[in-house]
Amino acid sequence: MGWWPFGGRRRRSRPARALTVERCGSCGAESERPFREGDCLFAGESGACGKCGGGRTSVERIFGEPDE
Ligand SMILES: [Zn+2]
Repeated sequence: MGWWPFGGRRRRSRPARALTVERCGSCGAESERPFREGDCLFAGESGACGKCGGGRTSVERIFGEPDE
């Protein structure tokens, strides 16, 4: 613990590009999309699955990509 790969060299308030990964609770399909304001882990179901059609997706993880 204590080691964080993104925060050392340059401090910034938020990553230049953040991605949100959503996972379908029914078929398990994961999809990435750009982070939107208000995205939050454990916020509940956030959309409909584009793969199986019937499942609901929820935010699985959120991560930032450093812009180089
Ligand atoms: Zn699905």
